[in-house]
Amino acid sequence: MKTKFVSGAAIALSLALFAGCSNNDKTANEKPSHKTEKHEADKKNSETQKNKTDENKKNDDTKKSNGNVSQDPEPKKDQEKKKNEPSEPSADENKKPAQKNDDSVSVAAHPESIPVLVNKRSKLPENYKPSDLVYPDVAFIFSEKIEKRMMRKAAADALEDMFAAAKKEGINLTGVSAYRSHETQTALFNNYAKRDGYEKARMYSALPGTSEHETGLAIDVAGDGGKCPAQDCFGDTQESKWLAEHVSDFGFIIRYPEGKESITGYKYEPWHIRYVGKSVAHKIVGKGETLEEYFNAVPVSNGK
Ligand SMILES: [Zn+2]
Repeated sequence: MKTKFVSGAAIALSLALFAGCSNNDKTANEKPSHKTEKHEADKKNSETQKNKTDENKKNDDTKKSNGNVSQDPEPKKDQEKKKNEPSEPSADENKKPAQKNDDSVSVAAHPESIPVLVNKRSKLPENYKPSDLVYPDVAFIFSEKIEKRMMRKAAADALEDMFAAAKKEGINLTGVSAYRSHETQTALFNNYAKRDGYEKARMYSALPGTSEHETGLAIDVAGDGGKCPAQDCFGDTQESKWLAEHVSDFGFIIRYPEGKESITGYKYEPWHIRYVGKSVAHKIVGKGETLEEYFNAVPVSNGK
């Protein structure tokens, strides 16, 4: 397994630069999404804000600073990695594949923390489900009230404010895909693993627990009328330009910035925004950093 991992990781890494987070919708059918590798990451990051989900909206600044993420990026990655699950050698792709590699991926200690770091090195606890999911009142490229339309309360409120502010300036943003349950991600991954084998599936699909969409704090957006949903062409739209200039004012960040591929593990995805709270967002954007850098986390592509 170790061996497989290493080679798999190398390939996965290169692929990651392509696949990005298209996981959202496309994952379901065609494309590759986030892939993962295991490593340890920092779990310290999310140390506190556990239950204060709701309030963050208002005082996110406050809590963040004290809570887990001290303003100084110092949550380090020195933690004991806890694998939430026994690493079962999954020969059976039907089980939960994610578990197999747990030994090298740390588990977020405080998954409810607003700025929680979730990437290929830091995953959410098994079966984690946000407790405050709601349906943000914004336009999506579909009309059904389904899972991927939901977001955690604080993120949903911020999203509504942001879409409304954009609209006043003639910018019409559209939601594409937000929350994705652990079950959905697991089923998705298992289908791929069953079809292509575990190692191969890992290269193009996010292991359960490692997709930011499972936090309920991330959403992929599109331009006016659903233009360029989770696609590279979105980067050339006026909506994308507006987002880049204003997201942090609403507590969001462009999670996978251009030029930071080796740190985030994903290629540039102008459409994937992540709610982290205004205070953290301003610090990250102000320094031109990533969430990984904010937490002083080990770069995703670093090591193996
Ligand atoms: Zn995404």
